[in-house]
Amino acid sequence: MRLRNIAGSREVIAESKYTVKDPEQKKGLWKKEIFGNDNEIHIEIGMGKGRFIMDMAALHPDINYVGIEKYSSVLLRAIQKQEELQLPNVIFIRMDAEDITEVFDESEVGKIYLNFSDPWPKDRHAKRRLPSREFLKRYDKILKKDGVVEFKTDNEGLFTFARDEVEPAGWNIDAITYDLHNDEVMNEGNVMTEYEEKFSSLGNPIFKYVISRKG
Ligand code: SAM
Repeated sequence: MRLRNIAGSREVIAESKYTVKDPEQKKGLWKKEIFGNDNEIHIEIGMGKGRFIMDMAALHPDINYVGIEKYSSVLLRAIQKQEELQLPNVIFIRMDAEDITEVFDESEVGKIYLNFSDPWPKDRHAKRRLPSREFLKRYDKILKKDGVVEFKTDNEGLFTFARDEVEPAGWNIDAITYDLHNDEVMNEGNVMTEYEEKFSSLGNPIFKYVISRKG
């Protein structure tokens, strides 16, 4: 996914009205200062070129969406698309999700989407996996009381790892499928991501869980 060295991508991001440059300054203020309404905030971490979050924003105008992406060259594609669509309820941040608790306040987020997160296959990199217990701890801080994390992937190893992190991290599995596109209930209203379209067209089953905190 990383499109390296697209000339000027950092400059475009710095000037775009669709990115928030100083996201730490907006902690606790996203609804009021960025969206100017009281609608719930949903975020996608590792949104890539942003197709999923923009489709969601178009479908749900009463939700505020924040797309988070680490790499400028990828984020640039999302900005270009948003310049055409000009959806009022979506904004982007270029950042590493490791710092997510610096950007959102306690209970400020209603839902977190993780779609086709990087697998980081080496054991010593497990902490970098976005559905790892280390990241669940961060999500715990920013999610509202009944907030959920939704995770989709075609990577069986990553999904098994993610599933096995849920219980020890103090979360519950609310719903799970090992073949999303053939699961009538969980697939209802499913919005595909770029990776989902690519890998499901190769015949790969898509795994998904929805989790929330215990208690
Ligand atoms: N979600 C998109 C999809 O399903 O089509 C893109 C999936 S792509 C495999 C994973 C994306 O997550 C990449 O664009 C990568 O740069 C981004 N990413 C990985 N780790 C990240 C992190 N710690 N913080 C923010 N973005 C991250």
